[in-house]
Amino acid sequence: MDIDLSSDDLAFQQEVREFLATNAYKHGADYAQWRLNWFKLAREKGGWDVTKWPEAFGGPGWSPTQHYIWEQETAIAQTPWDLPFGLSMLAPVLMSHGNEEQQNRFLPDIRDRKVNWCQGYSEPNAGSDLANLKTKAVLSEDGSHYTVTGTKIWTTLAHIADWIFCLTRTSDSGKKQEGITFLLIPMKQAGIEVKPIITLGGSHTVNMVHLTDVKVPVENRVGEEGKGWGYAKGLLAHERTGLAGISKSLAALENLRKQANEVKRGNGTLLDDPSYRAKLAELEIDLLATEFTELRSLASAANGAEPGPESSILKLKGTEIQQRIQKLTVEAGGIYSAAWGAMPVGHMFARGGMSGYLSSRAYTIYGGASEVQRDVIAKNVLGIKRSQTK
Ligand SMILES: Cc1cc2nc3c(=O)[nH]c(=O)nc-3n(C[C@H](O)[C@H](O)[C@H](O)COP(=O)(O)OP(=O)(O)OC[C@H]3O[C@@H](n4cnc5c(N)ncnc54)[C@H](O)[C@@H]3O)c2cc1C
Repeated sequence: MDIDLSSDDLAFQQEVREFLATNAYKHGADYAQWRLNWFKLAREKGGWDVTKWPEAFGGPGWSPTQHYIWEQETAIAQTPWDLPFGLSMLAPVLMSHGNEEQQNRFLPDIRDRKVNWCQGYSEPNAGSDLANLKTKAVLSEDGSHYTVTGTKIWTTLAHIADWIFCLTRTSDSGKKQEGITFLLIPMKQAGIEVKPIITLGGSHTVNMVHLTDVKVPVENRVGEEGKGWGYAKGLLAHERTGLAGISKSLAALENLRKQANEVKRGNGTLLDDPSYRAKLAELEIDLLATEFTELRSLASAANGAEPGPESSILKLKGTEIQQRIQKLTVEAGGIYSAAWGAMPVGHMFARGGMSGYLSSRAYTIYGGASEVQRDVIAKNVLGIKRSQTK
């Protein structure tokens, strides 16, 4: 596609830059207040707070190029923290499969960043093989509510979430993919216990969530009973596209170059080292190729298409690139990167480098492991049939 910026696009880019510069966080200000106000101002610009939502639900109705510009500019500017679970994962499901009552009930709070959601898909024996999930939801005789019992695992930010969107099993008959029901469950209630899991990088972001006889009103079921698998798959495609983080990687690569230029090597810097330069060049080539796949995906989204199997290409390549950036950061920091958790020494950028590197191991696991993405690409993009084994 043509990504030369027209005069209208250049004017838009300028408008975005001005918005981001004018509303940047001012040192010493109340961060929480600034964050909410930023989203309010972005909303007043005409849907800049929900850039990926369709126009019918308040989105800006941008062209692919405008989305591209927004991603580029926000990757280098300071924007408030935002979570994908409600905004980019649940919201599209509610827009496509929720009823009007659910859309009116949940979408405004998601848009106002008033509630935090988490994703209750994975279970101890259901990760890549998600359809194996066992968390049971039993409908009461009067049909008014479900009683949910089971365990979810790796639930990101469950400890700060107000709600969880959950895949539950309402039937054991037929194929595993059938009999899965999509429920919306408030987190702060009796019967829900959240236990922290501390990951390799030393942080607490994921949890184990135990649900015991949790009553869920039938109004909190999205779509039809037993049809949750179809909704869940659509959500995963949105999740995968979001995880690619191409614009952020472009900004991080730029940063990496600056960092390498700070590191003395012989008479020059690490940036003069042919072996390090070669790695940066390979990274840049892969990143640009992936960026073009993202542009194609943005173009079809702007024409109303839901993300398809190409989201697996973006997830696969995008997360591998993010890991390579983390690895090269640690490499540039050298021995100083190893001083993780100890008194800070050496280059500023090396601090936290190792923690970032270790945490980045998870990028190619969550949202569907790389091996699984390769399977999806082989089957649904390349059309390769699984070989028959005896
Ligand atoms: C940091 C982090 C955050 C997460 N956040 C969430 C969250 O918020 N909500 C949520 O629901 N889940 C979350 N997850 C779970 C994540 O989606 C799963 O970890 C992922 O789907 C893999 O499942 P698993 O861990 O059970 O590994 P497994 O499925 O047991 O896989 C183990 C290994 O076997 C490979 N493998 C499995 N099947 C195949 C196959 N068919 N072909 C080839 N190789 C295969 C995998 O690629 C992997 O390398 C998170 C995970 C992590 C690490």
